[in-house]
Amino acid sequence: MERLKIAIQKEGRLSDKSLQLIQEAGIRHNQDSKRKLISIGENFPLEILYLRDDDIPQYVADSVADIGIVGENEVLEKGRKVDVVERLGFARCKMSLAISQSEKYTGLSYFNGRRIATSYPEILKKFLMQNNLKAEIHEISGSVEIAPGIGLADAIFDIVSTGSTLISNRLKEVEVVANSEAVVIGTPDLSASKKKILDKLLFRFQAVRRSKNNKYILLNAPNINLDKIVQLLPGMKSPTIMPLYDEGWSSLHSVVNENDFWNVVEKLKEYGAQGILVIPIEKMII
Ligand code: ATP
Ligand code: MG
Repeated sequence: MERLKIAIQKEGRLSDKSLQLIQEAGIRHNQDSKRKLISIGENFPLEILYLRDDDIPQYVADSVADIGIVGENEVLEKGRKVDVVERLGFARCKMSLAISQSEKYTGLSYFNGRRIATSYPEILKKFLMQNNLKAEIHEISGSVEIAPGIGLADAIFDIVSTGSTLISNRLKEVEVVANSEAVVIGTPDLSASKKKILDKLLFRFQAVRRSKNNKYILLNAPNINLDKIVQLLPGMKSPTIMPLYDEGWSSLHSVVNENDFWNVVEKLKEYGAQGILVIPIEKMII
């Protein structure tokens, strides 16, 4: 049987979330946790390859794997011929330039003639070129943030999420060059039969993601404010409304986006809603 080969990070920040997504998409696989090189889907034609994240763009470009889950930062850096076929919303981070807190930042021209330490020389090179800047790039493979402190560089270009690493190294972020999140990449020349499997897989990934971003909401509402409440909670198609035994009241069921959730609840209370229940959704298919 033909299987779609997906490459995911063997060990690191992306591995747990990648495996979780595959599991929540309902795909069981025999996970040989000791050697963990390959596992095979038991109920879906998927083969999982466990690799270092740096290698994933190349393996996908060379069709060793058909698709992969990797940070956009690695996709940008490696510049391989792959398509981003889905954004996954986890491992969000920025790629930023940072300098010592004691330095005065004077704008982009600050970097002219400076030494910048980074593990992402290609992205940095492109950025410097686009901005007509001439700086010296020092490529190092890890712990970039210590470079200014030990006199190896004047600035760094690295991944920033909360900024706490910068603070503990007395650095400050001065320019955001790019944003990154985990994405699914695919080889541009996927066979028609594998493309079919990919579409099924992405359909499941989307259902999982949507369910995480949304909650099922039930509440009791006075009929006089029902129209306003329906406007607030349009739901997937439109909300379900059932009369309560008490006259003048209805029960309303709908779906609400996690991001708006607290704003919506405040308004609902203003409109006299009571007995609000919010329930997680396991899968959401629209
Ligand atoms: P490997 O051994 O596989 O090469 P690594 O050490 O290069 O792993 P990790 O530190 O596990 O990589 O990070 C993997 C990816 O997670 C990064 O390429 C980036 O996309 C994302 N990432 C890294 N740091 C953060 C962070 N602080 N917040 C959010 N996402 C991050
Ligand atoms: Mg890596």
